This record gives sequence, structure tokens and C-alpha cells, in this order.
Amino acid sequence: MASLNLSLECDSEMAMLKQMAFICNCQGTWLFTVPPTSSISQAAAAARVPPVSETETRTIFDKIIAKEIPSTVVYEDDAVLAFRDISPQAPVHVLVIPKSRDGLTELGKAGKRHEEILGRLLHAAKMVAEKEGILEGFRVVINSGPSACQSVYHLHLHVLGGRQMKWPPG
Ligand code: 5GP
Repeated sequence: MASLNLSLECDSEMAMLKQMAFICNCQGTWLFTVPPTSSISQAAAAARVPPVSETETRTIFDKIIAKEIPSTVVYEDDAVLAFRDISPQAPVHVLVIPKSRDGLTELGKAGKRHEEILGRLLHAAKMVAEKEGILEGFRVVINSGPSACQSVYHLHLHVLGGRQMKWPPG
């Protein structure tokens, strides 16, 4: 059983930690999940600190969008960014993401207002396949939530190709 030793500076950090769930992802890496904003607000209120807003919960993809960390961009327009996956699972493995997350941490959070961006993402996936020369056969994957092994909570499409795919997927 793994254990964590953390030095907590104040009550607010302790309140936040109690609200987090530590999980092990599909590659055996330890991650933590942050509870819904309402729970955070309750914990923060209890500790008399400001709530953490969604815009503050940045993922690695926000840093890629902001060019704070490098990526190999394959396609870009005003709403969508597509870049090569750092750990490719096929000769072509490109991630397609919305530049504005707008609550789309995962596909399971999609609402009516996201219809346009969801269509833009699928069209961008096709543009990527065309650019990469895999239009004759490619796969688009969206992992949504822990049971699907999602690891970055900013909606993204995996565009995979360049080899024969198998079915069913794991
Ligand atoms: P998920 O597991 O959430 O469906 O997919 C997340 C993907 O993001 C993984 O395939 C992972 O390799 C990729 N990824 C994680 N960090 C980085 C990064 O810093 N740069 C790039 N290009 N891809 C990343």
C-alpha cells in the first residue's frame, strides 16, 4: 500500500486535501482528482479561503495552448489546436483540443452549448487525417472519465493511424 508524506502549511491546504481523491491511472501513475467546484467551495468556505475557480485549474494542455511548453502543431485555427502526442501509440498520433475548455473537462460534461465546438473538433480530426496522409483509414478516440483511462481533463480527440488497427480496443 503506497503512502504519501505531505507537509501542510495551513488549515486551508488540509481542507483541500481532504476533498481530493488519490487514484492510480491506467499506466500505474499516481494522480489526484479535485472534487466538483461546489465541494471545493464548501471546503474553502470552511477554511475561510477563496474558492478555486475552473479557470485556475489548468492542465498541461492549457500550457501547450499558451505556448508555455513546446508541442509539434499539426493543425490550428481560431478554435482548435492539434499537436502530436508525446507518447505516440501509432505512427500518427495527434491530439485535437478546443482552445477554450469552457467546462469541457471530458466529453461526459458536454452540453447543448458545446454542439458547435464538438463539430469543429471532429472536422479538425478529419483535416489532421488528410494532412497526415491517413484518410484511407484512421481512428478517432475520446477517453471520457476514469473508467476510460482519461488522464488529462481537457477534452481531446486522439487521431490515430499509419498502422492496421485492431478491434475491439482494450
Ligand atoms: P488521455 O489519457 O487523457 O485520453 O490522453 C492524454 C494524452 O495526452 C496521452 O496520450 C498523453 O501521452 C498526452 N500527453 C500528456 N502530456 C503531454 C504533453 O506534455 N505533451 C503532449 N504532446 N502530449 C501529452
